[in-house]
Amino acid sequence: MKKVGLIYHEDYLKHDTGVGHPERKERLVAIVEHLKKSNLSEKIEWISPKLRNDVEKWILKVHQPSHLEFVRTSILKGIRLLDFGDTYVSKDSFDVALLAVSGVLEGVDKIFKGELDKIFCAVRPPGHHAESRRVMGFCLFNNVAVAGRYAQETYGVEKVAIIDWDVHHGNGTQEIFYEDPSVLYISLHQYPFYPGTGSREEKGSGKGYGFTLNFPMPAGSNDEDYLKIFGNEVSPALEKFQPEFIIISAGFDAHQDDPLAGMKLTEEAFKMMTKLTNEIALKFSQGKILSVLEGGYNLEALARSVENHLMALVEM
Ligand SMILES: [Zn+2]
Repeated sequence: MKKVGLIYHEDYLKHDTGVGHPERKERLVAIVEHLKKSNLSEKIEWISPKLRNDVEKWILKVHQPSHLEFVRTSILKGIRLLDFGDTYVSKDSFDVALLAVSGVLEGVDKIFKGELDKIFCAVRPPGHHAESRRVMGFCLFNNVAVAGRYAQETYGVEKVAIIDWDVHHGNGTQEIFYEDPSVLYISLHQYPFYPGTGSREEKGSGKGYGFTLNFPMPAGSNDEDYLKIFGNEVSPALEKFQPEFIIISAGFDAHQDDPLAGMKLTEEAFKMMTKLTNEIALKFSQGKILSVLEGGYNLEALARSVENHLMALVEM
């Protein structure tokens, strides 16, 4: 049995969002410490990624050059808040963000070179709110979007599915692939809620129409509600699309203990959604799954949820 890979680098802790910010380095510390103590530890292959020389080239596949330069120069100038919201950075954040993208690309490499089938990337800053030309919601570069394009252009993958179960809608990923039928973007999220997008009517446009699927969920939705949508709608849509590669935008902030949102999931839901995703991966993508951390802000709930997610990846 192959192990599950875990991409993590201590430099991910250097992205400092300031006192009291929910997206803090302790999130990764909690995940790593919990996994090292868990029964899973011997089934995990720890991977410390290297910064890629060509990482900016890949970022530019999904972001405008002006976006990359805005992030770089703003951080160089010492600006701490990059938007009108809550996307705070520190002097190291640009390098950390490049290392986060490098980490997910290393994950894609390991999967397509056959070293591992499933990899979880414990990276920060997160990515799914970052649009082609703007930072947003703690996100600088869209890690999963870069990973999807990279897999397509480097390994000849045609159809990529991105499943986003972060409690917030992944407006950035949706925007980047809105007209692209080669990337199926599926999101389950609290709605109405931040960032405001993600209604069922948003389905993509042009050739991409039908390749964005939003499942807005009312506040208070529980495990049963999520698994019903997953079984009745998400899995059939994936069966129809037949993805050659599956990427998960793995946010764990729909957990009932999360301080930012109002959902009622237990960590069991993340295990079950992972199993259902894996069934699709085994059918169409030789089991290949790249999972990338997005949100999740209660440290204990986050650590236990990641453990459950990895348990399901390991078991299959
Ligand atoms: Zn979130």
